[in-house]
Amino acid sequence: MNREDFPILTRNIHGHSLVYLDNAATTQKPRSVVDAMTEEYYNVNANVHRGVHFLSQQATDLHEAARESVRRFINARSASEIIFTRGTTESINLVAYSFGQECMEPGDEVIVTEMEHHSNIVPWQLLQTRKPIGIRVCPITDDAVLDIQALEKLISPRTRIISVAHVSNVLGTVNPIAEIINIAHAHNIPVLVDAAQSAPHMPLDVQALDADFVAFSGHKMYGPTGIGVLYGKEKWLERIPPYMGGGEMIGKVTFEHTTFNSLPYKFEAGTPDYIATTGLARAIDYIESIGWEEIQKHEHELTRYALEQLQTIPDIHIYGHKADTGDPVISFNIGAIHHLDLGTLLDQLGIAVRTGHHCAEPLIHRLGVEGTVRASFALYNTKEEIDILVSGIRRVSSMF
Ligand code: PLP
Repeated sequence: MNREDFPILTRNIHGHSLVYLDNAATTQKPRSVVDAMTEEYYNVNANVHRGVHFLSQQATDLHEAARESVRRFINARSASEIIFTRGTTESINLVAYSFGQECMEPGDEVIVTEMEHHSNIVPWQLLQTRKPIGIRVCPITDDAVLDIQALEKLISPRTRIISVAHVSNVLGTVNPIAEIINIAHAHNIPVLVDAAQSAPHMPLDVQALDADFVAFSGHKMYGPTGIGVLYGKEKWLERIPPYMGGGEMIGKVTFEHTTFNSLPYKFEAGTPDYIATTGLARAIDYIESIGWEEIQKHEHELTRYALEQLQTIPDIHIYGHKADTGDPVISFNIGAIHHLDLGTLLDQLGIAVRTGHHCAEPLIHRLGVEGTVRASFALYNTKEEIDILVSGIRRVSSMF
């Protein structure tokens, strides 16, 4: 993989070469993404959709071409099913708000899972403050995989939507999303897929999955911050109301009444981050230029190697990864060493890992700990970096 495409990887941190293993939080950006955004700021910048002038047209063309790139990337039927948001969090909030308003009555239920990120828990709790809906939680087994049988049992005549992470950001567990969607659809229940951790690591085909809503973030897949996607099936997006009001999303406005714009603009109030959409499109180009086969082969090999090597460390406890290799996200603790101490000392060696509850407190509680250390890999990581991580952990352990 071309590490030279990522200038930040050459940095020295505390006198050591950077070993960046915090990719589940955010990935680094290739030059092509940053250059395309700089080029647009320097040479094209103008607000989109509103202008008759040349630059506005050009910026609009780039913005809509980016939407088409996303459509192709996830194989959506139409570009009007691609809503640009600020990220996964906003995408899920949009669905919880708008679907909750239109399609849920007091007493209706949403099913989430025990391994959700807070961004797929709190929006439903916010909905609860406006409407007394129930939040049912599908448990995980002691092997830290989703209990699918329990999921089936949780479905009731009041279940209106199932909202589930495709991949756990703590465990790397890949949930059987096609099976979940099949089960849900057998009961006429739509599914929202939180693809924040899957979009960077595997191809997504929303039509083959028959997913109703899919949310993901640009910054976790080599794209810029501040841009994300909500895919929604047209029939749902037509049915649910806008999440925010303002410019762009309107048809006609009077003080008495406003009509809304067509899809996807109905959900895109205000000036969109049209520079970031270009960056996202270049990130998609970057992924496609390497190819999923290559990326997955490399990342699976790294994950297998990391699991093997980490397991040689005395007193290590690795969470998940029992059923299969999973995604390149590995959470662990070493004996009684506090995760924060371990993370801080690894940082002194130039190794960037994440520590804490990873915005998934209920899952962390289920694992019976206060937090973990998480190493997460991307296409530019190497086996040598895993060796540095492992020897770093050994060195820190020996200090305790
Ligand atoms: N869902 C999962 C599984 C995540 O890992 C994250 C981020 O870590 C999010 C949602 C939220 O993503 P963002 O902060 O980009 O909105």
